[in-house]
Amino acid sequence: MDANRLQHLPPVNEVLGTPTGRDLLGRFRREFVVRAVREALQEAREALLAGGEAAPGPDELAAAAQARLSAIAGSGPRRVINATGVILHTGLGRAPMPAGWVRTGYCDVEIDRATGERGSRQDHLREPLRWLSGAEDALVVNNNAAATLLAVDTLARGGEVIVARGQLVEIGGSFRMPDVIEASGARLVEVGTTNKVRAQDYLRAATERTALILQVHPSNFRLVGFTEAPDTGELARVAEELRVPLVYDVGSGCLFDTQSIAGLEAEEREPVVAEAVEAGADVVCFSGDKLLGGPQAGILVGKRGYIGAMARSPLARALRVDKMVLSALGHCLEAHLRCDEGGQPPAERLLRHDAERLRERAEALCAKVRAALPEARLSVEPGLAAPGSGSLPATGLPSWRVALSTDRPEAVARALREGEPGVFPLVRKGAVLLDMRTVLDGEWEELAQALMNLVRLRPG
Ligand SMILES: *Cc1c(COP(=O)(O)O)cnc(C)c1O
Repeated sequence: MDANRLQHLPPVNEVLGTPTGRDLLGRFRREFVVRAVREALQEAREALLAGGEAAPGPDELAAAAQARLSAIAGSGPRRVINATGVILHTGLGRAPMPAGWVRTGYCDVEIDRATGERGSRQDHLREPLRWLSGAEDALVVNNNAAATLLAVDTLARGGEVIVARGQLVEIGGSFRMPDVIEASGARLVEVGTTNKVRAQDYLRAATERTALILQVHPSNFRLVGFTEAPDTGELARVAEELRVPLVYDVGSGCLFDTQSIAGLEAEEREPVVAEAVEAGADVVCFSGDKLLGGPQAGILVGKRGYIGAMARSPLARALRVDKMVLSALGHCLEAHLRCDEGGQPPAERLLRHDAERLRERAEALCAKVRAALPEARLSVEPGLAAPGSGSLPATGLPSWRVALSTDRPEAVARALREGEPGVFPLVRKGAVLLDMRTVLDGEWEELAQALMNLVRLRPG
């Protein structure tokens, strides 16, 4: 080690005195600028000790400090382009939302306009949720995991919850039905076998401690072949006989018949919230950011007595949603009340995209990039997009992709992801694929630009 070389590093004050350093001092608090410079100096010191050649000068160190501060000050999720073809991609924030759905400034989230007294934040969306689901009452919480927890905790704490073995599912991100039931202080009673369960199984498992029957939609997997389970109507009759509520976790919160979507497999269908209510479930819960197409939220609809009991639970306060979520969800519900095509939530529009239009878009994108860079190795090919987030898991939606041939697909994909805005593609051996189904209307220019930058940087 050559200790002398360390002495070539400039002192903090000299770095602060550079044009970049002075600019940083004009924009950020001094203590944080000094800290960023110290960290840049420490990194340079370590590089020298590890055998690095030249000591960086004050301007270079100021630039390094600037990069650090900008990264920290610009934290939080950034906008990206989803070219994976997975519409409800949990890593990319599930349902995409338009800017107009976000409320800024003050709002009347919890106040009564007539009296000026404190009101309830749950009043805003009760009516649209009642109209859309046919239920008597509604409650919005943080997510569907919270909704399930609140339902079981309020209606079954200290008692027994009967669930079919084939419905004890794990949903991504370590949400396991048995754990949720345990966390809410109820005892889980499993009935049936993995593939078969009958109404009789529920009746036989009942004791005087039975508090609730829970039906769970096995979102992300399919049981096929020799299977049987009572439908919601049958379970509702069992629950009535046992004088306990039936709670149905339908998962995706679909308000429309998914069989109306072109290209879907005929036998695959998501439960529709209004049908679950109509069939007799006392409480139905679902996510806000899956097929509903809104912000992260958990929605409970059902009989007034049960919803009211949940709203009064101390847990409800801990699980409550913010004004921004209520505002976005309000816009999303309005979109479901409308009939004009442009009015649908973006996630539903993506589901209903016409595949032929996607092919035209893929070809236009290819042509644009090729016009600027004839050497680009691009082609257009068909593929299957997916609803995602456990919805309709066996289904592929016909789609079209732009394929960029490359020997280093992983490196190319990484460069795309790390761009601004980031582009998230699919990676295959020998190619990077951009699925057109999930690219939003305003993103075509940027996507073409990202591809052109890439081809310029990495010919071949
Ligand atoms: C997705 C899902 C959940 C979890 O919903 P979050 O809103 O992500 O908390 C719970 N139950 C079912 C059946 C699901 O599909």
